[in-house]
Amino acid sequence: MRAVMSTAYPTYPDTQLLIGGQWQDAAGGKKIDVRNPATGEVIGRVAHADVSDLDRALAAADQGFQVWRKVSAHERGAVMRRAAALLRERADEIAALLTQEQGKPLAEAKVEIVAGAGILEWFADEALRIYGRIVPSRKPEQQQLVIKEPVGPVAAFTPWNFPVNQIVRKIGAALASGCSFLVKAPEETPASPAALLKCFVDAGIPAGVVGLVYGDPAQISSYLIAHPVIRKVTFTGSTAVGKQLAALAGQHMKRSTMELGGHAPVIVAEDADVQLAVKAAGAAKFRNAGQVCISPTRFLVHNSVREEFTRAMVAHAEALKVGNGLEQGTQMGPLANPRRVTALTQFIQDAEKKGAKLLSGGASFGSSGNFFAPTVLSEVPLEADIFNQEPFGPVAAIRGFDRLEDAIQEANRLSYGLAAYAFTRSLKSAHQLAQDVEAGMLWVNQPALPSAELPFGGIKDSGYGSEGGPEALEAYLVSKAVAITCV
Ligand code: NAD
Repeated sequence: MRAVMSTAYPTYPDTQLLIGGQWQDAAGGKKIDVRNPATGEVIGRVAHADVSDLDRALAAADQGFQVWRKVSAHERGAVMRRAAALLRERADEIAALLTQEQGKPLAEAKVEIVAGAGILEWFADEALRIYGRIVPSRKPEQQQLVIKEPVGPVAAFTPWNFPVNQIVRKIGAALASGCSFLVKAPEETPASPAALLKCFVDAGIPAGVVGLVYGDPAQISSYLIAHPVIRKVTFTGSTAVGKQLAALAGQHMKRSTMELGGHAPVIVAEDADVQLAVKAAGAAKFRNAGQVCISPTRFLVHNSVREEFTRAMVAHAEALKVGNGLEQGTQMGPLANPRRVTALTQFIQDAEKKGAKLLSGGASFGSSGNFFAPTVLSEVPLEADIFNQEPFGPVAAIRGFDRLEDAIQEANRLSYGLAAYAFTRSLKSAHQLAQDVEAGMLWVNQPALPSAELPFGGIKDSGYGSEGGPEALEAYLVSKAVAITCV
């Protein structure tokens, strides 16, 4: 791999906590190293909050809520739009930080940031559409109202795969609804989340309305979720951790949204446009090196087109330029951390042992960094771990089917239910898929398009609640019934 001139990009900064509108180190001075996944080198450090920092952050979120809930929807939207404009303006600079800490190609990082600005703008507009209602009363002298109010200070927990956008969907809905927002962002990718929060501070958001902490994830989540100031919990991450946090939220009677893992089926029917399927699902498969909750992971291909599809997918995988995301032309970066390399290696070994055929890739490479070759497996048996556990990596695992009903049955076999894809030219099959596939999102004959205006979320073990559409705001609102009798 070519060396990259570090002077071409902003120097990677150390990251501080944001408490009460002030950037600061942790009270105890503790810090965590941040590594570049393309080189393995330590590139910076992030402040590690202790309980005293959390207490101050909670007090600030409480005060911030008292201020923000009284700000008009128009003004909330205006602040959010200013923050979105700053995010766009700073997209190149923030993308360079994101790539250095997370690994994805610079162009992908920039798309994440610009798309994030668009999502914030959509939520800013949606703030104006938080309506209550007037309900006909049974008595002439009485008026009945339903008032929508913000639920209260929010504790958010976001992962490293989309360091900016995983926060954007949560902060957008929370701020539009009038909630204050305290996020524990990922320690592995801290600088781009801090740059996002800085856009809100620079846009003039009142102190305490947004806060940012890092540290020990389990310690912070158990402290914040249990704390009386917090009224709402939102988490994106693995199903295993999500179940723990949902249980804790339940124990403390906190509302929660859980955006968890998936294992997206891609059904390629016998009448599919096979080239479109490979282009759309192949691009989605290797985006962010497969570390995406809606990444296509189980390719179910009709046996009449399986060979054509598999050959084209191998060609697609082998043509990808894998390297340091800062290098021009890189299409796939390294995995975000070494534990993903270990997990992927085990998935491949297990699949081969159980009878899958390795057609391309299948191993890590390079003397430094967490690089893993784009991989294609065919004839993957149902018992293979990769067909049962979320792979979260750049592996297209393919198996054939003969009847559409069998493919749908396989799609629904797992406890996950997040995203699903299908390719067919038949309207009848498209309807059948829309009705019978158990998933929170289904894309037919197209790549994933998780636009802000549509619900984004899963069912079954993939979680509950939504991070898109009007449903996203509902998750941050409570309904108050008021009856007024004129005397
Ligand atoms: P992990 O389960 O250890 O962590 C996932 C995320 O949750 C991380 O950001 C982590 O900091 C956070 N986390 C972990 N324990 C926590 C706790 N007790 N309280 C609060 N936050 C906590 O897994 P990982 O090795 O970082 O990632 C691998 C797996 O996580 C993947 O296989 C995938 O299933 C899942 N994941 C999902 C998404 C998503 O977008 N849904 C994103 C990242 C990771």
